[in-house]
Amino acid sequence: MIEIENIVKNYKVGTQIVRALRSVSLTIHKGEYVAIMGASGSGKSTLMNIIGCLDTPTAGKYVLNSKDVSSLSDDRLAEIRNSEIGFVFQVFNLLPRNTALENVMLPLVYSGIKKAERKRLAEQTLVDVGLDDRMTHRPNELSGGQRQRVAIARALVNKPALLLADEPTGNLDSKISEEIMKLFAEIHRKGNTLVMVTHEADIALHAHRIIRLKDGEVESDVINENPIY
Ligand code: ADP
Ligand code: ADP
Repeated sequence: MIEIENIVKNYKVGTQIVRALRSVSLTIHKGEYVAIMGASGSGKSTLMNIIGCLDTPTAGKYVLNSKDVSSLSDDRLAEIRNSEIGFVFQVFNLLPRNTALENVMLPLVYSGIKKAERKRLAEQTLVDVGLDDRMTHRPNELSGGQRQRVAIARALVNKPALLLADEPTGNLDSKISEEIMKLFAEIHRKGNTLVMVTHEADIALHAHRIIRLKDGEVESDVINENPIY
């Protein structure tokens, strides 16, 4: 699903060059559940942005679902993001004036699917994340954990090949974080591919593979023999 070969990412800051990724190679197969860890500044967000087609590498090759996406135009990258990737962030980015259901229907607006069907798909996805009874609530009428569930439903509603989560529990207390990790385990069991960035070791231990970055390079890449759940 994800084939990354010798990826380099440099940022220019004034006259300086920041080498955010030095030479990263990774293969992630369909159905894997991967955590990316590393200290602040190690390159996690940069790598996630490239994996998520939000940015392109300075050098190296990235093949996503058999397509070389290393140097596509912004428009083509946007198409790939919309059709193949679901994003979950630390901040939930929900539209405050819209209900949970409307927030989840949103990614389907440009899909060409009729409204009744969009509603049905969004309702089903909200049921899947355990929010059957919160569909008409607005974000400020939901708890933090419930908001994150809405954000996860929004990420999943168009059945993306890949779910990317950047510090998905960063804004949640430990009990609610655990609930979100249970939901991720369920999503993984249904066959989804999950890649999440976290700096919390106890969150990473839910993933089945843990990749550590250090100074823009892969420091270690190990199978987690005893994932939680
Ligand atoms: P992490 O997510 O692990 O904290 P980042 O990928 O955000 O790491 O950053 C890796 C390195 O690249 C850091 O040295 C950071 O300062 C630098 N960096 C990240 N984004 C930019 C940017 N847009 N412009 C310049 N430097 C950046
Ligand atoms: P938590 O302590 O887990 O963050 P809250 O105390 O915020 O949860 O909410 C508890 C329950 O009350 C949740 O099920 C949530 O949906 C509901 N709730 C919270 N705020 C509102 C509100 N302003 N209007 C309606 N229901 C609310």
